Amino acid sequence: MASIPPTRERGRGILIEMTRPGDDEMTTDQYTFTNPAELYADFEPKKQHQPEPGLDAELVPKADLGEKTYRGTGRLKGRRALITGADSGIGAATAIAFAREGADVAMSYLPEEDVDAQRIAQIMQDAGVKVMTLPGDLRDAAYCRDLVDKAVKGLGGLDILVNNGGKQVYNEDLATLDDDQFDDTFKTNVYAMFWITKAALPHLVAGSTIINTTSVQAYKPSEILVDYASTKATINAFTKALAQQLAPKGIRVNAVAPGPIWTPLQVTDGQPQEKIAEFGEQTPLGRAGQPAELAPAYVFLASAESSYVIGETLNVNGGTPTP
Ligand code: NAD
Ligand code: MG
Repeated sequence: MASIPPTRERGRGILIEMTRPGDDEMTTDQYTFTNPAELYADFEPKKQHQPEPGLDAELVPKADLGEKTYRGTGRLKGRRALITGADSGIGAATAIAFAREGADVAMSYLPEEDVDAQRIAQIMQDAGVKVMTLPGDLRDAAYCRDLVDKAVKGLGGLDILVNNGGKQVYNEDLATLDDDQFDDTFKTNVYAMFWITKAALPHLVAGSTIINTTSVQAYKPSEILVDYASTKATINAFTKALAQQLAPKGIRVNAVAPGPIWTPLQVTDGQPQEKIAEFGEQTPLGRAGQPAELAPAYVFLASAESSYVIGETLNVNGGTPTP
C-alpha cells in the first residue's frame, strides 16, 4: 500500500515558499490528502509583542491565510457577505475563501489596520468579486449600524453576516482587571455582534446565514481570560437562542469555535509572551492551527449546503473535547 509522503514534501507549508498567489498556480489546497498532525510541520511560533490591534504584516512567522492554499469551487456564487475583523487572522482567511467561492464581501476592521485590509482586499479582487473596505470601531454602536447600511447599499443587499472581530487581553488578577478593559472586551465581542446583527436583520432574506466566532474558551476558560472567556460563552448562548428565533424565517445562525490559531490577537497580549513559543502544543494534534484551516468551516456554514445545520457550534480546535 502506498504511504502518504510527509507533509514537508506535499503539505501546505512548503508550498508557501514555492508558489505565488493565484488559483491556477496552486498544486495543493485544502483538499490535498495529508496528515493533519504533520501539516505546517515547519511552522514555529516565535516570542514577540505588538501593541493592539496588531498587524498581520508584522507577524513572525507569517500566518497562512489561504493566499496560496485555498481553492474556491463556486460554493457562494452571487452571495453578499459582511465580515468583521476581515483584515487579518481568521476573518481575513474567511474573506479570501468567500471571495474565491464567488461572494462579494464588505470588510470591517480598525483604521490602523488598513495595510492588512488593503492586501486582503487586493487578493479578493483578484478573484473577480466586489470588495468594500469599511474601517471603524466596533465599540461604537453608530459605526456598527452605519457599517451594515453601507454594506447593504454597496453590495446591493446582504445574505451572509460573519461576526468575527474580537478583543483578547490576558489578565492574571481580577483585582487589576479594570472596568475599561472589561467594557471594551464586551463591547467588541458581544455588543457589536448584537448591534450589527440587529441592524442586518431587516435586510436578510430567507436563506441568509449568520456566523458568530466564539472560542474553545467558552467551555474551557483560562484563568487569565476571565473577561474574554465570558464573552465567548455569551456568544454561544446568543447564537443558540437567536438560531431558534430565526429558523422559521429561514435565516440560519451558527458559530465557529476556534482553538489556538496563529493570528495577531495572540501577540497583542492575548497570551503572556513566554507562552507563545509553545502556542497550540497542548492540543491533541500537538500544534497551533492556521487561519486557513478555519475558512472551510465558515464557508460550510455560510453555504446552502448546511441547510439543516442551525444553532450549531462547529469546533475547529485541533481535537480538544467540547460539550
Ligand atoms: P485578529 O487580530 O487577526 O482579528 C481580530 C480582528 O478584530 C482585528 O483584525 C480587528 O480588525 C478586529 N477588531 C478588534 N477590535 C476592534 C474594534 N474595536 N473595532 C473594529 N474591529 C476590531 O485575530 P483572530 O484570532 O483572527 O480573531 C478573530 C476572532 O477569532 C476573534 O473573535 C477571536 O476572539 C476569535 N478566536 C481566535 C482564536 C485564536 O487563537 N486566534 C481562538 C478562538 C477564537
Ligand atoms: Mg487585524
